Amino acid sequence: MKSLLLTMASLCFFCFRIAAAECDLNITVQDNLAFSPTSLSISKSKCPEITIKLVHKGTLPRQSMGHNWVLTKTADAPAVAKAGWSAGLDKQYLPPGDKRIIAATDIIGGGESASITFATDALIVGGDYQYFCSFIGHSAVMKGTFKVDK
Ligand code: ZN
Repeated sequence: MKSLLLTMASLCFFCFRIAAAECDLNITVQDNLAFSPTSLSISKSKCPEITIKLVHKGTLPRQSMGHNWVLTKTADAPAVAKAGWSAGLDKQYLPPGDKRIIAATDIIGGGESASITFATDALIVGGDYQYFCSFIGHSAVMKGTFKVDK
C-alpha cells in the first residue's frame, strides 16, 4: 500500500511537471535575424499564464545586435514595430504604453537572457498573433507565429 501511494505521488508530480513545462516556453536568438523556433503554440485552458524566456546565444552587444520578443495581433505588428523605431533603444524600440503590445521582453545582447510572464485570459483561441523583434530594422524578417489553442 505504501509503495502504491508513493508511486501515485511520483506520477502526480510528473504530471504537474509536464503541465508546468508546457506553460514555460524558451526562445533562442543569435547574431542573426531569426527566432528559434519560428512558431509557438500554447493551451489557454492549461496555462492561465505563460512565461517566455528569451536567450541570446550570440556575442554581439545589444546596441548592434539586440533582440527582444514582442507579442501583438499579426495585423498590429508592422505598425507597432514602426512606431517603436522612433522610441529608441532606451525604450526597447517600443512605443511606451501602447495597448497593442500584449507582452514584451527587454532588448538583450549576446550572452544575456530575459523573460516575461503574462496572463492568457485576453488571448483569443484561434486568434491571429505574431511575435517579432522590435530592434530597429529586424521585424520584417525576425518574426514568428503564436498559436492559441483551447
Ligand atoms: Zn532582433
